[in-house]
Amino acid sequence: MDSNELWQAVLGELELSLSKANFTTWFKNTFIASCREEEVIIGVPNLFTKAWLEKKYHKEIMTSLQNLTGNRTKTIVYRVENRPASPQMIPAEVMGNRPESIPDQENLQTHQPMPSAGSQSQVSGDLTVNSKYNFVNFVVGKQNELAHAAAQAVAAQPGGVYNPLFIYGGVGLGKTHLLQSIGNEMINKNPNVKVLYVTCERFTNDFINAVRGGQAREFKNRYRNVDLLLVDDIQFITGKEGTQEEFFHTFNQLYQSNRQIVITSDRPPKAIPTLESRLISRFECGMMADVGSPDFETRVAILETKCQEKGYPLANEVLHCMAMAVQSNVRELEGALNKIIAFHQFKNISPTVDTVQPIMASFKPTGTRKNVTPRQLIQTMAGYFDLEIEDLLGKSREKRLAFPRQITMFIMREEMKMSYPTIGTELGGRDHTTAMHAYEKINGCLEEDEKLRHDIELIKQRLYAL
Ligand code: ADP
Ligand code: MG
Repeated sequence: MDSNELWQAVLGELELSLSKANFTTWFKNTFIASCREEEVIIGVPNLFTKAWLEKKYHKEIMTSLQNLTGNRTKTIVYRVENRPASPQMIPAEVMGNRPESIPDQENLQTHQPMPSAGSQSQVSGDLTVNSKYNFVNFVVGKQNELAHAAAQAVAAQPGGVYNPLFIYGGVGLGKTHLLQSIGNEMINKNPNVKVLYVTCERFTNDFINAVRGGQAREFKNRYRNVDLLLVDDIQFITGKEGTQEEFFHTFNQLYQSNRQIVITSDRPPKAIPTLESRLISRFECGMMADVGSPDFETRVAILETKCQEKGYPLANEVLHCMAMAVQSNVRELEGALNKIIAFHQFKNISPTVDTVQPIMASFKPTGTRKNVTPRQLIQTMAGYFDLEIEDLLGKSREKRLAFPRQITMFIMREEMKMSYPTIGTELGGRDHTTAMHAYEKINGCLEEDEKLRHDIELIKQRLYAL
């Protein structure tokens, strides 16, 4: 086995235990630079990757190398080195000829303290970042450490190797917080830097207005002359061809002049329906980082941070009780905290587990947490799958329509506890047996179909975020 084959075998093993985003991010453009006796030197594209591999993946890499070399490997050295021109594991158009830009090693571990209140978030136009979101008050856990590290690296070296940065994950998991932190960090370091934060919706409306009002030039000036463009919730660009086209050009212009672009989405680029393939490949060519639901410890740490910010300390057992009850997302966790504080201030009593528990009961993930109407669900489904409502309710059995329709019926039954006949009626006057069949079918697929589970989770999140 030559060193290339050896490394491919190591990667093959690592790939099994890592998420795709992690794997691609950290192992893209790595290779064995030399393999002599007991020492293996691994070439990595930059210091950031080097630090990360040493800190996070060293053990796995060592185990895998030892398994494959019959325990010969004793030391591994990670060295920043350009990959020799050989077959690439992952096509990496971005890494190509660009100058390496490497964040300080220190920036990887330490937070830069930042004035929290009153820091002027100067941005071009009227589209501002909110100074309340910064790296200091962002709690790092296992589920967001990749996105957090990537965001810090980008703020330290904008327009470098991680361009664009694409952060994705469900509702209320800190995507906007990270996005804005990058903006604030850069403004903090250099108040003259031009940062533009927009939601996808805002970009779309601006574009439409510019076209209508004959102000294409102003539009281009606004979006194409910035150092950092932050676009939140890009998934809403689905189905808007003109906006996609314009965004493509904006993107290219910024990218070519080494300006940093950061994008968030509730799902990876490939899973955004009707997203043009040229945009997919642009989004995928930098760095992709996912955020997941926080685990128990992270939820407690987040609650502690929020309590500190609000100057309202809570006993550990109260924090634990809350973190147990809210498992889905951070926004809901904050909502719960606000509710607890308001209740106890109003009653003028101190929170204890006994007073907090009954309030938290309403956050338990059972049944419909909010009264969502069948119509709202149908609208949400149509939006999620980029379909017309009439298509969802109509007669066509085309798979692209029938499957979302069945998922709708499943959610009506499972989440909204509706009867089969009512479900049939709501979905364009179908028979109750059709609803039963749909429920059973989706229920049967759930175990095996990870994408389906993920879709349903995101739909529920959208539904409860209404
Ligand atoms: P998303 O954009 O993913 O829907 P947000 O960034 O709006 O989520 O986060 C929702 C709320 O939760 C915000 O108030 C944010 O400050 C808070 N939040 C999310 N993740 C964290 C975290 N890791 N540490 C501190 N606060 C967080
Ligand atoms: Mg958001």
